[in-house]
Amino acid sequence: MKIGFIGTGNMGNPMAVNLVKAGHQLTVHDLRREAATNLLEMGAQWVDSPKEAVPGNEVVFTSLPAPRDVEAVVLGESGILEGAADGSIYVDLSTNSPTVIRRLHEIGAARGVTVMDAPVSGGVYGAAAATLAVMVGGDEAVFDRIKPALDAIGSHVVYCGPIGSGAICKICNNLLSMGTGVLLAEALTLGVKAGVDLAILADVIANSSGSCRRLTEKFPRFLFKGNFEPGFATALAAKDVRLATDLGREYGIPMDLSNLIDQRHVEAMYRGWGPEDSDAVARLQEEKAGVQLRLPEA
Ligand code: NAD
Repeated sequence: MKIGFIGTGNMGNPMAVNLVKAGHQLTVHDLRREAATNLLEMGAQWVDSPKEAVPGNEVVFTSLPAPRDVEAVVLGESGILEGAADGSIYVDLSTNSPTVIRRLHEIGAARGVTVMDAPVSGGVYGAAAATLAVMVGGDEAVFDRIKPALDAIGSHVVYCGPIGSGAICKICNNLLSMGTGVLLAEALTLGVKAGVDLAILADVIANSSGSCRRLTEKFPRFLFKGNFEPGFATALAAKDVRLATDLGREYGIPMDLSNLIDQRHVEAMYRGWGPEDSDAVARLQEEKAGVQLRLPEA
C-alpha cells in the first residue's frame, strides 16, 4: 500500500520501519526531520507538512503525543484535512481521547474523509518486534481494507467497534498498566524493607497470582536497571491516566483509585520527570520507603 506516516518518534519510527519492511511505500513527516533519517535511508519519501502526506496515499497514519497534537496535525494549517479528498482514509495510532477522535470523525465525514482510531500497546520493544496489540475503532469495511498494513505493525489486531472504541480499550488498558505500576512499587518496597531480596520477591510474584506484564516486562527493562530513558515518557503516562479520569467524569463512573494514580503522576510531572520513562513514577515510592528497586545486571 501507499501510506502517509506522520510522527516518527519512539513508537512511530519502529512502526514505520516495519511498514517499509513489509513492502509498503511510505511518505513521512515529523516536526523533527532527524526523527525520520533511518526511514529515508530505507527509501521512504520526506514531506514538509501533514497536508503533503495525504495525496496519492491509500491511508495516512499519525503517531503523535497528545490529543492537542493530533488536532493540530489534522485540523491545523497545512494539516491532513487540507490535503484530503473525498475517499481519503486517516487512522490515528496515538493514544487519543475518544471524544476528540469522535469529533474528528464527524468533521472528516462531512468532507468524505474516513477517520479511524487504532491505538497500540506493547511499548517500543513491541513496536520494534511488530508484536503490538492494535485496537481499532471506526468503519469495519475500512478496517478490513487497512488490516494488511496494521498486520505489519502488530500481532494482535482487533476490531473494537465504532469510532472511539479503540481509544476506549487503550485508555482502560493504560489506566491498569499505570495503576499496577504504582501498586507494584508499594508491594516491592514493602517486601524488600521487610527483608526479602528483590530478585527473589520479583521472581516469586512473577510466578504467582500477583503477576503482571509491568513486573515481568517493563520493570526489568527500566526501573530495575535504573534506566529512565523513554521508552514511554512519564508525560505520556500522565496524559493517559488523565484521559481515563476525564472519561470517568464524562460518563459519571466512580474512579476513586484512578484519581490517586492520577495525582501520583501529577507529582512525578511536578518533579520534572515528564521526559523520563514512566517507571520514574515508582521513584516517588522508593523515596518515601527509603528503598531502591534495582537489580544487578544479569
Ligand atoms: P514521541 O514523543 O516519542 O513521538 C511523537 C512524535 O511526534 C515526535 O517525533 C514528535 O516530533 C512528533 N510530533 C509532535 N507534534 C507533531 C506535529 N505537530 N507534527 C508532526 N510531528 C509531530 O511519542 P511516542 O512515545 O512515540 O508516543 C506516540 C503516541 O503513542 C502517544 O500517543 C503515546 O501515548 C502512544 N504510545 C506510546 C507508547 C510507548 O511505549 N512510547 C506505547 C503505546 C502507545
